[in-house]
Amino acid sequence: MSTSYWLDRTYRSDKKNYDVVIVGAGISGLSTAFWLNKEDPSLKIAIVEKHRIGFGASGRNAGFITCGSVEHFNRLISKHGLQEAVDIWKFAETNLKLLQEHIIQENGKEIEFAKRGAYSLAAQDNEFKELQNVAKTMRELNIPVETYSSSEVEKNVGAKNFVGGIKYLDDAETNPVLLLELMRSKIKADLFEGTEAHRYEQTAEGTRILKTDNGDFETSMIIYCLNGYSPNLHPYFDDKIYATRAQILMMEKAPPFMDGPCYANFYLDYFRQMPNGALLIGGFRQLEKTTEVGYSDHITPVIQNALHDFVKEHLPTLRDKKVTHRWSGIMGFSRDGQPMIGALPEDNQVYFAGGYTGHGIGLAFNTGKSLVDMIFGRDVPAWLSARRFS
Ligand SMILES: Cc1cc2nc3c(=O)[nH]c(=O)nc-3n(C[C@H](O)[C@H](O)[C@H](O)COP(=O)(O)OP(=O)(O)OC[C@H]3O[C@@H](n4cnc5c(N)ncnc54)[C@H](O)[C@@H]3O)c2cc1C
Repeated sequence: MSTSYWLDRTYRSDKKNYDVVIVGAGISGLSTAFWLNKEDPSLKIAIVEKHRIGFGASGRNAGFITCGSVEHFNRLISKHGLQEAVDIWKFAETNLKLLQEHIIQENGKEIEFAKRGAYSLAAQDNEFKELQNVAKTMRELNIPVETYSSSEVEKNVGAKNFVGGIKYLDDAETNPVLLLELMRSKIKADLFEGTEAHRYEQTAEGTRILKTDNGDFETSMIIYCLNGYSPNLHPYFDDKIYATRAQILMMEKAPPFMDGPCYANFYLDYFRQMPNGALLIGGFRQLEKTTEVGYSDHITPVIQNALHDFVKEHLPTLRDKKVTHRWSGIMGFSRDGQPMIGALPEDNQVYFAGGYTGHGIGLAFNTGKSLVDMIFGRDVPAWLSARRFS
């Protein structure tokens, strides 16, 4: 991005020195810092964040910790082949296991974490047939999944007008901001909130200077963890990560009626009941696909009305409940739906992670681990490496 002379106030403050500077304090930046700490506790790390922790998608998402990816399992197989689809699935399963082992530990209740599985519901017969085929494939691979009839769906999650559904048993959910706070408490790094990074320069001595509106950071390595915001910092991301908006609506509390979070319409729409009884529903960006892009976090009547109509049609017990919150956030979609890690082609000391395509809570912790593997010379999966785009 470009910066005016007037805003470039670097001459006003001293240069700060760090071994590594991470840009972006969402789940990706924090996960990367966590694994760098583990790799080498002596590393001096700074995290530079334009607003505050979780200001981006990480503090605005629905809190599904989902296995797999943007598509259901059979579509993943047609796109990637069986072995890679299984690898992608296992990568997400490992993400959850690592989160539980290293971050959540005994604090599950505190961060509203629950592992109740997640339903995929079908409103049409052909959709249900497709989901049943997905369940068959998953069972053959020993992935735990169950199939439910229309009446069982209604009984288990209170949702009407669905033909049936399947439930993958190992998915989880959480309060994403409490998860970030817990993660932050386990990281040794200096956090600079309210600090916007503009660009970096290379010095004759081989260090990098990250220019920010809070002065210069001199460092050996920069890591961009900006997801949807990545193209603002470097043109390399222009044709690799696309800023894409998603909207959410929340309704006032009701007595518990859902035994797990739900997806509908092939992962495009989703809803879940919070531990306090409030209902969150998101999705429907397919209605305004061409305008649900870019960096503005406003909400639109078309999508907000569609979300509310969905509640009236499928969750009629909530039809008279008030809407308490409406919001949106910016995701980073990659070209093939999978996240990407790598170094800039012209600078092997400037790394990045991003492109989570709406699934960063289910993927970023393990992606941060893989990025640290890459930095320290260990192999990473080809489907995760940004080299697949060059
Ligand atoms: C409405 C919605 C619902 C979602 N639901 C789910 C879900 O249920 N499950 C799931 O897995 N995923 C979900 N996602 C996607 C998930 O939230 C993202 O994939 C994930 O949060 C990406 O994390 P990140 O750290 O890479 O990016 P972000 O959280 O976006 O963090 C990037 C950070 O960079 C900062 N930044 C930007 N520019 C600069 C700069 N120049 N200098 C310094 N800092 C800068 C931003 O302020 C931001 O905090 C959802 C997303 C949205 C928007």
